[in-house]
Amino acid sequence: MFSKVLIANRGEIACRVIRACREMGITSVAIFSEADRESLHVKLADEAICVGAGSNTDSYLNLANVLMACRISGAEAVHPGYGYFSERAHFVAALNQIGVKFIGPPVEAIEAMGDKASAKEAAIKAGVPVVPGSDGAVPTESDALRVAEDIGYPILLKAVAGGGGRGIRRVDSPDQLASLWKTASAEAQASFGSGEMLIEKCVLEPRHVEIQVIGDEYGNMVHLGERECSIQNLRHQKIVEEAPFAGLPEEVRQRMGADAVRVALSVGYANAGTVEFLVDSDFNYYFLEMNTRLQVEHPVTEEVSGIDLVHLMLRIANGEMLPITQDDVKLSGHAIEARITAQDPDLDFAPSTGPITAWIAPGGRGVRMETHCYAGFSVSPFYDPMLAKLIVRADTREEAVQKLAVALAEFQVAGIATNIPFLQRLVESEGYRAGDFNTAYVPRFLGQDH
Ligand code: ADP
Ligand code: ADP
Ligand code: MG
Repeated sequence: MFSKVLIANRGEIACRVIRACREMGITSVAIFSEADRESLHVKLADEAICVGAGSNTDSYLNLANVLMACRISGAEAVHPGYGYFSERAHFVAALNQIGVKFIGPPVEAIEAMGDKASAKEAAIKAGVPVVPGSDGAVPTESDALRVAEDIGYPILLKAVAGGGGRGIRRVDSPDQLASLWKTASAEAQASFGSGEMLIEKCVLEPRHVEIQVIGDEYGNMVHLGERECSIQNLRHQKIVEEAPFAGLPEEVRQRMGADAVRVALSVGYANAGTVEFLVDSDFNYYFLEMNTRLQVEHPVTEEVSGIDLVHLMLRIANGEMLPITQDDVKLSGHAIEARITAQDPDLDFAPSTGPITAWIAPGGRGVRMETHCYAGFSVSPFYDPMLAKLIVRADTREEAVQKLAVALAEFQVAGIATNIPFLQRLVESEGYRAGDFNTAYVPRFLGQDH
């Protein structure tokens, strides 16, 4: 096994990976920005190296400094977490060049799944159903009008290079298209360095259901079932995720799982990844994209499968064979994750920053916390507002929902505003309790929630 691993990330996911390293007897190296000096991930790691000033571009996305930290520490491998360099092929290529192992898929697989257009192409080739839409990027506004007419409104404009819920615009009629096309494309250029846009049929009130896959470097791969991630904010960002999707017919689950494995293997995938689908009310499913990394919501899969995904990622990157076959994967119970963010529900979810003066986290049987925060830690304006993930597990969905409600009520944070009061109302809502929701649920709920 590697003797030293560098974690090229911050926050809760850095803590998550550092713990796994320590459990496996691997020396962990944290990187941190000047604004993150007091973060828990720095305290948990065996070694820590400052990679720059507070802003992401100065530090966690500063390629030269991150590579230098690898060199200085003598790390043999790098775990990228999610976001940051996790899906950047050039980062993997740079690591390959200095002989440091990337704990993730091969560079070719990242490239194949790197943008939404080539990912859909791969899915079509593998015979996996995709959301109807343009054949790759749409070059001009007049092409867009023609394609949209063919597909039928409403449609979505999507940045080919987009991610994290950003770069998606709904268009309901041709007269909206012209102006939205220009602004969306300009925004995509500014945010992702590419103004390329594709068009997709807007699936009305779908569920977001994704399949966790994991494979070794010898072509063996399994899926670990699905996660239901339809509870999303107005910007298509996930807020609450669960496993399994209680209403999913077993036959559909098996088919989706097999399709996810097939599309991943078709691009030479290895290590952990997630294939995202939209599912309509008749359980027809359509490939959306593949995230070539560990996902934020991976703990719910761990809780129902009993598999530690980060341990497995490390072993696979070390050249070990996948220790399980599909028949060994046994899913049981129900797990739910809620993302706790420093956002004020009373101020349109505006970010809240500054020192946390009190932090009393929930606990008890079946309650898991993933966080880098504590009382005394100061929330910086530079980063994603996620403070913690609260994960609960129980035998049934009903019990898990109840456990989540109790845990949220226990959670006390002072000094900054959080979304906890909103999560509490959401979890108490009738549709959520009944499991009767889709991606339109939160927008509708927010409209009624005063
Ligand atoms: P997940 O399903 O793992 O939550 P998300 O799409 O929400 O996936 O992305 C996870 C994290 O990565 C978020 O913090 C998001 O801000 C970040 N992220 C994802 N894609 C991009 C991107 N293209 N550019 C910058 N950040 C991204
Ligand atoms: P990202 O890379 O930002 O995660 P995705 O393509 O995964 O983008 O889509 C994010 C979310 O946006 C989905 O979970 C879903 O709620 C919504 N969405 C994306 N594509 C469609 C579509 N064609 N129809 C309806 N909703 C969609
Ligand atoms: Mg997505």
